[in-house]
Amino acid sequence: MKISEILNKEKLTISFEVFPPKTNSNFETVKVATEEIAKLKPAFMSVTYGAGGGTSQYTLDIAKNINNNYSVPTLAHLTCVSSTKETVRQKIKDIKAAGIENIMALRGDLTPELENSDRSTWDYRHAIDLIRDIKAIDEDFCIGGACYPEIHPESENQKEDIKYLKEKVDAGCDFLTTQMFFDNNLLYNFLYKIREAGITVPVIPGIMPITNGNQVARAIKLSGSFMPQRFKSLVDKFGTNPDAMKQAGIAYATDQIIDLYANGITNVHVYSMNKPEVAEKIQSNLFDILD
Ligand code: FAD
Repeated sequence: MKISEILNKEKLTISFEVFPPKTNSNFETVKVATEEIAKLKPAFMSVTYGAGGGTSQYTLDIAKNINNNYSVPTLAHLTCVSSTKETVRQKIKDIKAAGIENIMALRGDLTPELENSDRSTWDYRHAIDLIRDIKAIDEDFCIGGACYPEIHPESENQKEDIKYLKEKVDAGCDFLTTQMFFDNNLLYNFLYKIREAGITVPVIPGIMPITNGNQVARAIKLSGSFMPQRFKSLVDKFGTNPDAMKQAGIAYATDQIIDLYANGITNVHVYSMNKPEVAEKIQSNLFDILD
């Protein structure tokens, strides 16, 4: 099923993100964790893709299993930056053959190696090139794109970032999912600006429950997200107590989701990171709200 058809305009829906195993040896563990999350019957599940394609087969295997055996609509991520046209086009056809109707079309991060390589030889420069390829192969795919309430780290300024985002959406994005953020006001400001710029597709906020103190530094480094004082105090207090940090991180994420819904946002994507117990807890915290 297409994600564009299930995004609810009135009631709150929750979707979850999982990531594929890095090697075959932990495939089974990851598969079981993603199945536990699928049993919670989220609105949909997304499966990330290792930039460079090293784990790409696992993305498809995990996505196919959830889609076909658990009837949870699945969004397969695909990156393009360091891949050839031939490889990417084959991946798109494989996703189609697996019965998956949704692709999250991404450029992928520029590793230091890629940063220093000769870009004139690249087949793809930006996610928009991938979106055009997907459309050329099959008009029917439902396509998601990434967006950044706190601007993409490579962008000069937000105006430029939103200009390219509008071009990306016009090339064929059916919806956008945001980078994680920890202050909802940043999302509300971003939404105001993109709507003003003429971007009208649904935007699904991405919420990351921080459940372990060590995750914080990594999450900030990857996302460049602003940490509100309220969140910093919570990490200072509970960061060294794993059980307390998990409970506090889930409560903070739940609070963000409730505030989003109270302000008219009806679809939220949770970066559940292969942790069924976190996904389950968030759902149960929202039990009466989701009902
Ligand atoms: P783009 O849309 O290409 O944007 C990248 C930068 O280029 C931005 O600064 C943008 O303003 C600028 N830009 C865009 N178009 C143009 C243009 N035509 N000309 C000039 N500049 C332009 N990474 C993975 O490796 N695997 C994943 O599964 C994955 N999933 C993600 C899911 C979400 C929801 C998000 C938010 C990110 C995800 N990422 C993933 C990370 C993502 O690949 C990186 O953030 C990457 O740096 C940018 O990808 P993008 O698709 O947003 O790129």
